[in-house]
Amino acid sequence: MQSVTLPASLDEAVAALTAMPAAVPVAGGTDLMAAVNAGLLRPAALVGLGRINEIRGWQYQDGHALLGAGLTHARMGRPDFAALIPALAAAARAAGPPQIRNAGTLGGNIASAAPTGDALPVLAALEAVLVIVGPGGLGDSGVARREIPVSHLLAGREMLRPGELIGFVRVPLLHAPQVFLKATGRTGPGRAVASVGLVLDPARRGVRCAIGAVAPMPLRPLEAEQWVASLIDWDGERGLAPEALEAFGEYVAAACVPDQGEPVAAGVLHLRRTVAVLARRALGRALSS
Ligand SMILES: Cc1cc2nc3c(=O)[nH]c(=O)nc-3n(C[C@H](O)[C@H](O)[C@H](O)COP(=O)(O)OP(=O)(O)OC[C@H]3O[C@@H](n4cnc5c(N)ncnc54)[C@H](O)[C@@H]3O)c2cc1C
Repeated sequence: MQSVTLPASLDEAVAALTAMPAAVPVAGGTDLMAAVNAGLLRPAALVGLGRINEIRGWQYQDGHALLGAGLTHARMGRPDFAALIPALAAAARAAGPPQIRNAGTLGGNIASAAPTGDALPVLAALEAVLVIVGPGGLGDSGVARREIPVSHLLAGREMLRPGELIGFVRVPLLHAPQVFLKATGRTGPGRAVASVGLVLDPARRGVRCAIGAVAPMPLRPLEAEQWVASLIDWDGERGLAPEALEAFGEYVAAACVPDQGEPVAAGVLHLRRTVAVLARRALGRALSS
């Protein structure tokens, strides 16, 4: 490795990446250094994002929170953040052991785009938007901003271009119950076998749900969302009968874990069962909160 640059602002980071096209950005380093240590990656230079204060917190903007990409999982897990975006806080608390949560960041979780990334189904359910900074702006800084839905990046419909960074993540503040649940293959912290982010959006009379870890990107069971939202009395108690919760879980599971031929493999059945239970519980908890 030849050099490590530590810019103090996003503009400086974009300038450094533009000046050194072979350089790779690094935030907490939890994913990147694991790849380096495994011999999968040999970056010629690194641009460290850890000193950029403007992306370590959040601010309010038109009914949304503008989250800095440098927010660590540990910071997002704290009560003040949990009061704002409870499902993202729950995902952050579930993201690996403490040393990973202390270093790992929201931006790194998104850019790594691992199927097991815990923040990702929550961001998909929230329909979060990424604010991307990169070269080519007309102002003095020479830095441009563009916005893309997080789902476009995760689905590969849009990519980060050379010199670009995830600067911020815009998330709507819904002021309604939201839930993140994760099933792991063993007891204690671990990568998700399946996860669910589920949010209620009373203003749009909507239920939005995304299933993580069962596919390369979080999956939205749109028909199941619309069906169950139509059953909810949004002006009243908001509760649902156990049979309706059960049916929602099955609907989500069938959409997200399809058959792969006959007979259906035991692993597929088990995963479908897991997803059904997660989706049912998540909706039940959201409606009873
Ligand atoms: C033992 C272990 C357990 C883990 N458990 C979990 C878990 O349970 N759940 C989970 O979700 N994750 C888990 N992870 C993965 C990891 O901690 C997270 O994905 C973390 O959020 C990555 O953030 P980071 O800041 O460390 O990223 P880095 O390692 O610094 O970077 C990761 C990638 O993102 C790029 N990048 C970073 N920031 C930006 C940015 N702002 N703009 C553009 N590109 C950027 C880097 O160039 C690199 O390609 C685990 C990792 C380890 C090693």
